[in-house]
Parts: sequence; C-alpha cells; structure tokens
Amino acid sequence: MYIITKEEFELNVDSKYFGFDEVKCKNCCNMFWLTEKSKAFLKILNHFRKSVVKKPVRLTNLYRCPSKNQKIGGSKDSAHLEAIAVDMFCDDLSVDELYRKALKSSLFSGLGVYEEGFIHADIKNRNIFWCSTKKHGVEYFKTGEEALKRFLSEREGK
Ligand SMILES: [Zn+2]
Ligand SMILES: [Zn+2]
Repeated sequence: MYIITKEEFELNVDSKYFGFDEVKCKNCCNMFWLTEKSKAFLKILNHFRKSVVKKPVRLTNLYRCPSKNQKIGGSKDSAHLEAIAVDMFCDDLSVDELYRKALKSSLFSGLGVYEEGFIHADIKNRNIFWCSTKKHGVEYFKTGEEALKRFLSEREGK
C-alpha cells in the first residue's frame, strides 16, 4: 500500500532511528511503499544502525517510485522500487568502513560501495556485490570482499 503521510507511517511502522522524511520518495511524490517486506527492511536497518554501526547513519535514498526511478536512470528491477534498498553514509566512518560493517553483519543480500561517498544495501532475493568508481563505473563481484578490494585499489587519488 502507498503511505502518504507521516502520521500513517508512524502508526504502521516501528522505526526508531529513521523517520518518514528520510525513507519517503524524496523531492518527488513524498510517498512510501509499505509492504511486509519493506517493513522488515526498516527493522533490519534500525538494527544495523543500533547494534552494528552504533553511530548516526544518514539515508540519502530509500524508496523510489517508478517515475523517479526512471528519471534518475535506476535499473528497472531496482530494489528501491520495493523500498527494500537504501543508500546511506555515516559521518564518522569512511565508506569502505561502513561497507565492511554491512558485509560482516550479513543483514543484506546486495551491497554496493560508491566513490561518491555512500553505500547501497538491500534485501532483494539474490546475492550481489559491486563497487562504483569514477574510473571504471560499476563493477560486479561474487563476494563483498572482492568488491571492496577492487574499490580500495581503484579509488582515485587514494
Ligand atoms: Zn516519487
Ligand atoms: Zn541504491
């Protein structure tokens, strides 16, 4: 179901660390796609914030409606469309440190690390890992360790 208001969100979803404004389709329709799966994802994300990172985590992008997804050139089967993916960063950690924590936690099935300074994490039903650098664009790997290794070796100027 579509959730439109903060009130509805707060009534239906238990999300201590991330409010409606952080998870909604930002700068677009301001809606959230609420399903059992997206509820479960928020639960995982709150757990990740509280017990794994233990520091404030900022979400740049969680739910994306089809029109926004198309506008920004997201993939047609993007997990963001189901609100089971997030792009995030932590002011107190480097992206590779945050990626490593996400990897070690085993909470996510898809993990990408971006030179722009964020990681993507999702719970879509497949395992996939990637890194994105200015030099090579997006490259996919079977394991997160490989993706991270590639990221660290190819990152510009580091
Ligand atoms: Zn939208
Ligand atoms: Zn993403």
